[in-house]
Amino acid sequence: MLKVSLIVAGGGSGQRFRKALKARGGRMAAPTKIFAELAGKPVLIRSLDAMRKVSEIGEIVLAVPKDQIRISRMLLKKHGHGGVKIVAGGKTRALSVLQALKRTAGSARSVLVHDGARPLIDPEAVRKLIRGAQGADGAILASPLTGTVKQIRPGSMEIEKTVDRRFLFSAETPQLANRSFLLRAYKTVADAELATDESSLLEAAGGRVKVVTHEGWNPKITDYKDLELAEAYWTRGQGAETRTGFGRDIHRLSEGRRLILGGTVIAHDKGCLGHSDGDALLHAVTDALLGAAGMGDIGEWYSDKDPKFKNADSSKLLLGIVKQAALRGWRPVHADTVIHLEKPKLSPFKAAIRAKIAGLLGLPVEAVSVKAKTMEGLGPVGEGLAVSCDALVTLQRI
Ligand code: MG
Repeated sequence: MLKVSLIVAGGGSGQRFRKALKARGGRMAAPTKIFAELAGKPVLIRSLDAMRKVSEIGEIVLAVPKDQIRISRMLLKKHGHGGVKIVAGGKTRALSVLQALKRTAGSARSVLVHDGARPLIDPEAVRKLIRGAQGADGAILASPLTGTVKQIRPGSMEIEKTVDRRFLFSAETPQLANRSFLLRAYKTVADAELATDESSLLEAAGGRVKVVTHEGWNPKITDYKDLELAEAYWTRGQGAETRTGFGRDIHRLSEGRRLILGGTVIAHDKGCLGHSDGDALLHAVTDALLGAAGMGDIGEWYSDKDPKFKNADSSKLLLGIVKQAALRGWRPVHADTVIHLEKPKLSPFKAAIRAKIAGLLGLPVEAVSVKAKTMEGLGPVGEGLAVSCDALVTLQRI
């Protein structure tokens, strides 16, 4: 049987989206929305992961703005989608789809077109769509309208009538089209470049297009609220696996060294002795992360015999481990820390330390806690000879 070609539309830049997302601690690998992370993976990759489960799909062509081709290629490769063809999109969604359509195999009878920004697509719904399109020129995935719909008189806010919603459906993607019919529609339909979906083109060219409904939730991510809702939905559905690790570190305090805790310089007459910058707090956090991911301890990664790490910036060491954990499928979701230090008082520094750790772990500050305690004069910490730090880090499966 001839396979179906899949086109993924990956346009739509999002300056405002990016700003709102950053303010909330979210991450985005590139300026377009499809690269915003949903539970640790770009939205586009989530969409492709779902589509890969549909065995009827023989090839995938992605259309992205020209300046996004490089980053797209890199991310696709990183997430195991190296086989996806990438083309430069056009000025409108319809023109982008046309560029991709021209690159699909001429032997494919049908093409599916999907928004890269619909990551929750259920592979079973895609199969149902392919089956449902038989005997027609195309078919779309859609949901029945559930609200009551009012139509107003043009130019006023006065209701003309209540529309019978039994006959109304909200169009989604993927949409399936007979390949040659769609190519023809691009040539014959006036203003084809302005069509907001493929079905409109088929309809305007006189095609028969069916509506196929499904039970899932298939939202298009258009602003950060959609992303947060989708993430909550995804995480709940996955029952995301989490693991917590513990780390502890103690460093001797000595004159002539800077006191650095949580990547933050603390004004004091003594600092931490150590091969690196002696940041006991970041070492505890790093060990907690390593513990949660089952990756050994900090000494195995960064030997204190290695001259490379002499006076090393512990922020960089921690970032390296965050990256390694991500490669193994884990991302931080929470960190709790305690600093035991007799002097000086840490209250003026706690907010800066918290923000720094949050930044290093890629978390909102709300997900990081920094507590400071003295030892009431007891033991080496109490006598001002050392600083000791504890940390818990929780990771979630990406
Ligand atoms: Mg240490």
